[in-house]
Order: sequence, then C-alpha cells, then structure tokens
Amino acid sequence: MSIPPRIGFIGLGIMGRAMALNLFKAGFQVSVYNRTRQRTIEFADIGCEVASTPRALAKQADTIITMVSDPAAMDGVLEGPEGVISAFKGGNTLINMSTLSPDYTAALTKKCFIAGVNFLDCPVSGSKSAAENAQLVILAGGKKEIVDKFSSVLKAMSRAVVYAGPAPAGTALKLCMNLIVAQLTTALAESAALAQAQGIAPGLVFEALALNPTLNCGYFNLKKENILKQEFPPAFPLKHMLKDARFMLAEAAKKNLSLPVTKAVESLLEKSYNSGYGEKDLSVVLRNLTEPLSRG
Ligand code: NAP
Repeated sequence: MSIPPRIGFIGLGIMGRAMALNLFKAGFQVSVYNRTRQRTIEFADIGCEVASTPRALAKQADTIITMVSDPAAMDGVLEGPEGVISAFKGGNTLINMSTLSPDYTAALTKKCFIAGVNFLDCPVSGSKSAAENAQLVILAGGKKEIVDKFSSVLKAMSRAVVYAGPAPAGTALKLCMNLIVAQLTTALAESAALAQAQGIAPGLVFEALALNPTLNCGYFNLKKENILKQEFPPAFPLKHMLKDARFMLAEAAKKNLSLPVTKAVESLLEKSYNSGYGEKDLSVVLRNLTEPLSRG
C-alpha cells in the first residue's frame, strides 16, 4: 500500500485493545473510539486521537476497524446519526474483526457495497495472548485484491491470513474454528471433573496430555491454569462463545445439518451463563460440572 491508511479503531476490549496497540506500534496512524471512555485513556497517553463518537472517528480516518462484542454492538457503532455509516463518503474501508453471524455480515457487505465502501470480513482465530503478541490468524473474507491491499495492516496484528473467499466466508470459517475451541474447552472441563469424581488429580490429565505428542495441544496449555486453580479470569468471555455456538447452530439448522455435540456444548454454556458466569473465561463451565459434586 503506497499511502498508509489512517486507521480508526472501534472496540478496545480484551482483543481490540491489544490489536490497536499493535497497529500503533507498527507505525500506523491510529485513532480510537470506545463506548466506555475510560478504556481510551492509555491511547490518549501514547498520542492517539480519541474520538467522542463513531461518526467523529470515521470523519478523521479512511479505514475503520471494528472489534466489538456482537451484532447489537455493531449496530451501536455503525448505525444512527452518530454512527460510522453516517460519515462514509465512499472510497472508505470497513474491516470488521468481531465475530458476528454470517447473516449480519452478508447484510453489512451489501450495505457497504451500496455506500461505495470496501468491506473486509476478518474475524480472528486466537485469544488474548495471541492478540497481545500479534500472533492472531486472520480469517479473511471479501475481495481478494482488497485483502491483499490491506496486508500490511492485517500483518501488524497477526502471524497469518487465511483467505476464505467472498464475505461472509471469513465469518463462516470463524464459526468452524470456534466449534472446535468450544468442544476442546468443554472436553477439558469434563475430563477434569471426571478425574476429580474418580479421586485422581486433574493435573494428571494435563501431565499425560503433555507427554503424548499427538495430544499435546497448545490450547490445553492455555487453559491448564484456569482448570487446575479453578480461577477463570477472562481471555475469551463465556458470553461470546455462547453467542458463537448459537450462530453455529443457526447456520447448521438452515442446511438441515444436525450438530448434536455442539448443541450439548451450547446447553452447558447457557447453563453457565445463567449461573452468572458470562464475563468469565469460557473454561468456567468446569464450575457447572464440579459444583454439584463438591456440594453433594
Ligand atoms: P470484550 O472484551 O467483551 O470487548 C467488547 C467490546 O465491544 C468493548 O470495547 C465494548 O465496549 C464494545 N461494545 C459492547 N457492546 C457495545 C455497544 N452496544 N456499543 C458499542 N460498543 C460496545 O470482547 P473481546 O473478547 O475483545 O471480543 C471482541 C470480539 O472478538 C467478539 O465478537 C468476540 O466473540 C471475538 N473474539 C474474541 C476472542 C477472545 O479470546 N476474547 C477471540 C477471537 C474473537 P465497552 O468497553 O464500552 O464495554
């Protein structure tokens, strides 16, 4: 890209904060907006412009990146008189990196096309530590030439970009990836609960996994401490995986595809959410498995 884009970054949560900082560190001109203003303070401190509304941000940047919770949050920052779309003149670019539904993404693609805005559908694989270390894998949907045009921007946040096809293919691929993450997490939690129920230390499960080269998975290591200490500081908040599991089931239902294990995982995530654990890391599902045992 000859002229570097002026990037407006929206959504400074667990992931967005780290991604925006990496763009800044890579030398891009980054302005930010976040609904809760307090999260912008560290960006103002390093010299980034802080916009008071999404519209104000979109007026000062030609490229907007969104990393917010869900479709309602996207509507919150895109729509209305103070939304990003109200400031689009055509020729701008919107790169969504949040995990949304394929339907929402398809509708957004159309809206951007009508407005003359380039749209990239770029959700990410990788959690908090991957975001902090610019090691995300970006699952890219959209026009290939636009993905290529923005490669330096995507590179500043990631270790690799997988091109999936026209939008919403990035989002479709993201749901396939998260299906595995959801099941790996519940598998770890159930295995630890079964170990505890049989009177053996859950740590033995991790020890045996680590010694078996075909089962020694980086994701298990990432969640090991949570499971063993039974502490669940959020890296991937459970509420977001519940959202994603519902997107997966909705997509499968459209094609008459049955996903019985994903359905069971969604029920466990929902139970955990209803127990008040939505803001904790998704590995907190362990509590819903072990609490009745320890009480009994
Ligand atoms: P998070 O920490 O919960 O941050 C969510 C962000 O969305 C915050 O900036 C929040 O603003 C904003 N937001 C929420 N509702 C809003 C609304 N109505 N209007 C405006 N802004 C709103 O989430 P995260 O973990 O960074 O995840 C962000 C997205 O990436 C989600 O779609 C998630 O599924 C996906 N993802 C997460 C991970 C992970 O491991 N965490 C990995 C891959 C993908 P406030 O600060 O005002 O609350």
